Amino acid sequence: MPDTRTSSFNAAAIADRIRRLLPVNGRVALHEPRFGDREKANVLDCVETGWVSYLGSYVDQFEKRIAELAGVGHAVAVVNGTAALRVALQAVGIARDEEVMVPDLTFIATLNAVCHLGAIPHLVDSERRTLGLCPDALEERLAAVGRRDKDGTLNTETGRRIRAVMPMHVFGHPARMDEINRVAEKWGLIVVEDAAQAIGSRYKSRPAGSLGRIAAFSFNGNKTVTTGGGGAIVTDDAATAGRIRHLTTQAKIPHPWAFEHDAIASNDRMPNLNAALGCGQLDRLDQMLASKRRVFENYAACLGDIDGIEVVTDPPDCAGNHWLVSVLTPGPEERDALLRATHDAEILARPAWVGMHSMPMFKDCPKGPLPVASDLINRLVCLPSSPFLDPDWADE
Ligand SMILES: *Cc1c(COP(=O)(O)O)cnc(C)c1O
Repeated sequence: MPDTRTSSFNAAAIADRIRRLLPVNGRVALHEPRFGDREKANVLDCVETGWVSYLGSYVDQFEKRIAELAGVGHAVAVVNGTAALRVALQAVGIARDEEVMVPDLTFIATLNAVCHLGAIPHLVDSERRTLGLCPDALEERLAAVGRRDKDGTLNTETGRRIRAVMPMHVFGHPARMDEINRVAEKWGLIVVEDAAQAIGSRYKSRPAGSLGRIAAFSFNGNKTVTTGGGGAIVTDDAATAGRIRHLTTQAKIPHPWAFEHDAIASNDRMPNLNAALGCGQLDRLDQMLASKRRVFENYAACLGDIDGIEVVTDPPDCAGNHWLVSVLTPGPEERDALLRATHDAEILARPAWVGMHSMPMFKDCPKGPLPVASDLINRLVCLPSSPFLDPDWADE
């Protein structure tokens, strides 16, 4: 049924254009992995040699390659991106009852990681240009409630320390990190990058993962590179990387047989089986990134002239990984009409997440004004963005 709510926005016609653009028949998921001979051979190798658990050559290789991609000295592979965020926060010293500034427009794992440490998320607005945490809103919020002292910043409203800020690179578009780092330095905050969606993204030619003190990636099944489930913490600091290895292996003191542990920790390490899959994926990361760029370009060319559709592009000086291509509709009614029309056409588009402040668990979190995040959430639609939606994609 054609959309009749506004004369200029025809959701069914837009869905029809997308359907004709996509080079596949039937249901099109938002993001799907593809595996080839490399992945199969690597995983089979683990099974045949028995190296399936967290020790193994694929873990070592995967960590080395992720550190290189992130442009930093060290990577530690872990079981998922949420664990990577939690351990990254723990490794830089975030503790109970401390506040971490986070964007309202993010996936819930960003906030869950903070809460698992007993710390408190403090919500800040986002910006249209990057979809990421807005450095100006961050500065305004800190100026409104923060008092800078010799140890950092006190929240004068809650009486708690504000210790860190965790920007997230939304759909792979880098946040404005130079400005965020400047504000963080002024207020004495540690910068933790939630780079879960941003493997391979570049900001002013620097890779995501190298833009703060420490960063976390996700390799979940719907991300650009997948290990089935997985994540990694990346840092330039060797001592921090060592501490992370310790904390993610039950804080066991190395010894040929004795069970000595010196902290309450956990088992968060990535199994070799998963790393084997990931190594195969990294072999074709360049191909995937090139295809994802073409998927974005094709959407932009196909939808660019439509009234009421704005294709979200990379911020200036950035080359994102185009994890998800997104468009902005005029408002929530048009967004919902487009979601209905695309699903009717078996194109499984998705809205952005809901604003974190609206979730019952986070309703009492401290927060600044969130007008831009709320507006973006009302208008965003993510389109299927798997690399094989590039007509030139070739399975190996
Ligand atoms: C995917 C994601 C995570 C969590 O990763 P998992 O591997 O699913 O635990 C964290 N933050 C953001 C922004 C994500 O998109």
